[in-house]
Amino acid sequence: MTKIRVLDPDTVNQIAAGEVVERPASVVKELLENAIDAGSTSILIDVSSDMAGITKIRVTDDGEGMTQEEAVLAFHPHATSKIRDIADLSAIRTLGFRGEALASIAAVAEVTLVTRPRGAGALAGTRVRVRGGEVVEKSEVGAPEGTTVVVERLFYNTPARRKFLKSKNTELAHLYGVVENLALAHGEVAFRVVHNGKERMATQRSGGLLATVTGLYGADLARTLIPVEGRLPFLAVRGYVSRPVESRGSLAQVVVSINGRSIVSRQIAAAVRAGYGNLLPKDRYPVAFIELAIDTGLVDVNVHPTKREVRLSREREITGAIAAAVETALAGHDLARETPAEP
Ligand code: ADP
Ligand code: MG
Repeated sequence: MTKIRVLDPDTVNQIAAGEVVERPASVVKELLENAIDAGSTSILIDVSSDMAGITKIRVTDDGEGMTQEEAVLAFHPHATSKIRDIADLSAIRTLGFRGEALASIAAVAEVTLVTRPRGAGALAGTRVRVRGGEVVEKSEVGAPEGTTVVVERLFYNTPARRKFLKSKNTELAHLYGVVENLALAHGEVAFRVVHNGKERMATQRSGGLLATVTGLYGADLARTLIPVEGRLPFLAVRGYVSRPVESRGSLAQVVVSINGRSIVSRQIAAAVRAGYGNLLPKDRYPVAFIELAIDTGLVDVNVHPTKREVRLSREREITGAIAAAVETALAGHDLARETPAEP
């Protein structure tokens, strides 16, 4: 007898799932990333809740869909169509690459996936149901092109994780935040969020970043934003920043994406703030929407299980260029003369 044992696959999957699926918002993030990677133009997020919390998440896309074989394989841990080997990671264009999301979600919930590949006959759809990691149903169904994933009873088999869920409204706020950030990074997709039958948020397709900001946060904020642009041979900075009078109490409204990936970076947020110099009082932070296009070889996306952090080569040049771009943009506006929009 040895004290060391190799864990059974179910336990391994539940532990791995814990890294990827922290809360309902993580489910939405992964499903949206898959829908975006599938080339969707329109994505619906339909959330149901009762007194106790979020009961059901349904994400419907009009992307490339899957064959029956693919739909089953998609739930295997480390099964992905997006990379073949580690070398592909240095030129990654997709949001997913680990092949872990569907397996992780299905390890801690009940998942129903209905999908039909583009161009296939109307009855060539597939429905797969997976519960706690086990495929419990696989059938042919009629289905529209694209994919719908329904996630129910999240964390039903992991009470420890379930206990850490916050109030329903807090979880919904996280969930909406995930959609907002991905919508800001993907103007080529129309997003719509419905909660218990009521529309909560909607963005138009291809309206540009400012149109998305207007859709999400309203015209009053959008009207006051200042466009930012900057460039290095390996970097393009684009976006909008607030006038100093529109400042906030935290860095939370500095929204950053790199190559379409919504990310969290203290360094980049600090660089945006640095561009204001002493235009902002101490402890005040701007509202900013920054899109960075960076040579993929300089971006290591394989840092964090939820992919929300990345590691950058030449980070100091990049943050320097961001700060300079913000400074230039602000300098081009007579901030003293202009007043913010009427409330
Ligand atoms: P990853 O996104 O890292 O590849 P996932 O577990 O999220 O891993 O998905 C596994 C695979 O299932 C994907 O690589 C993709 O081929 C397929 N897939 C998942 N969701 C969709 C979708 N909405 N539309 C088309 N294919 C999908
Ligand atoms: Mg994925």
